[in-house]
Amino acid sequence: MTTEIKLDDAKVQEFRSSLRGELLGKGDAGYEAARKVYNGMIDRRPALIARCVDVADVISSIHFARTQKLMLAVRGGGHNGPGLGVVDDGLVIDLSRMKGIRVDPAARTARVEGGCTWGDVDHATHAFGLATPSGFISTTGVGGLTLGGGIGYLARAHGLTIDNLLSVDMVLADGRFVKASASENEDLFWAVRGGGGNFGAVTSFEFRLHPISTVFGGPMIWPLERAADLMKFWREFIVAAPEDLNGWFAFITVPPGPPFPEKFHLQKMCALVWCYTGPMEKAAERFKPVRAFGPPAIDFVGPIPFPVLQSMFDALYPPGLQWYWKADFFRELNDRAVDLHLKYAAQLPTMHSTMHLYPISGAAHRPGAADTAFSFRDANFAEVIVGVDPDPANNDRMIDWARDYWRALHPHSAGGAYLNMVMDEGEDTVKAGYRDNYARLAQIKAKYDPTNLFRMNQNIKPAS
Ligand SMILES: Cc1cc2nc3c(=O)[nH]c(=O)nc-3n(C[C@H](O)[C@H](O)[C@H](O)COP(=O)(O)OP(=O)(O)OC[C@H]3O[C@@H](n4cnc5c(N)ncnc54)[C@H](O)[C@@H]3O)c2cc1C
Repeated sequence: MTTEIKLDDAKVQEFRSSLRGELLGKGDAGYEAARKVYNGMIDRRPALIARCVDVADVISSIHFARTQKLMLAVRGGGHNGPGLGVVDDGLVIDLSRMKGIRVDPAARTARVEGGCTWGDVDHATHAFGLATPSGFISTTGVGGLTLGGGIGYLARAHGLTIDNLLSVDMVLADGRFVKASASENEDLFWAVRGGGGNFGAVTSFEFRLHPISTVFGGPMIWPLERAADLMKFWREFIVAAPEDLNGWFAFITVPPGPPFPEKFHLQKMCALVWCYTGPMEKAAERFKPVRAFGPPAIDFVGPIPFPVLQSMFDALYPPGLQWYWKADFFRELNDRAVDLHLKYAAQLPTMHSTMHLYPISGAAHRPGAADTAFSFRDANFAEVIVGVDPDPANNDRMIDWARDYWRALHPHSAGGAYLNMVMDEGEDTVKAGYRDNYARLAQIKAKYDPTNLFRMNQNIKPAS
């Protein structure tokens, strides 16, 4: 429920004149578009939206929120499931105009401002034949994805996104601008590698880059009747595969249009989506065991520029759809879990709804559970179940499906979820997501944000 708050006009005017970017209030042109986030289920009306263009704007916005005692949300790419980048009746720091990227090809690093999407980063780094690990959809924001961990195509080859994070610039709750890295504010650097937006507004991220340009990848799709065998083959194969090969598992409904052959349109099927980053001449050899499993009904795998693979599913999932997220980590997929997956795959409630299992192995296993705030280094798979549809009338149906599916699988899980892929489920889910790292995160939160100014996130309460 929104409670209308009364802002002091003079203070708002003073704030507005302190900004280089725009300040939008209810009724201003552009306000309606600016308050929208990716998930069409989220409908919040902030009191003010500060479209920051530089660090000075961010400092000014944090000062305003703190002194006016406003709820504060920081928006990176706006993709968060529960819409934690926007807040009712408070101030949104909208970073989407902060799009600067500086690639240093010699040092193989990139400095990326907080409003970039992964598509922006891929575009900038691909020009130099370089890339850094991100996710599977290019419209996702760098900010939220990185701060939560970052599971993507390059996780087995080069680790999670946070494993390639060299430093951050950020503005703290008291307005101080600091850098955090392995040698500066080390506690903060540990916390932002998985701890979400709890510790301040990150104005830029510095990433390590890798020589990745054209990869060998794309989806292979099989009939649902092959799903049990495919899952059993994949669960063993992918954990032991060379690190230059990644492939995630999906249950899908084939979209009714090209490039999918018409006879498969709207059929429920199972898929593996591959990304091989090793030498091209070894690709056929790497895929031999997969080919031995049996030919897919649809095969899109081949040489592909990395940014094209990254954006392959963007058009299928445009902004504004209804999204409901459930997630869990798994150490193993036992036969009972496979049976349960088959049961719920047969009931996919809408064309866009899906279940993915992302590998967390290879390079992503190298750091220990306590080396970064992201703790589930002993998991092998991140499961995400999403009910997705353009029509809100289908929400109840797809939410019920996602919850039932998750409830059935949860007893077989490692006990916690990837917090970037859940709704706003509350403290127990957050604690389960951090396990033994929660107490340390709460201490660091108390040091850098004792009043919990940054609480529109998967919130870590400051230790008392
Ligand atoms: C279609 C889709 C595909 C996805 N695919 C993947 C994937 O492949 N891998 C993966 O790991 N995740 C994936 N995700 C999940 C994604 O990581 C989260 O939704 C994440 O929160 C999105 O970040 P954002 O910046 O776009 O979101 P926002 O909604 O802008 O922000 C999310 C949270 O992060 C905080 N935040 C964002 N930027 C900053 C900043 N600069 N400083 C401080 N706090 C900040 C916000 O305050 C908020 O709490 C996907 C999500 C979607 C919708």
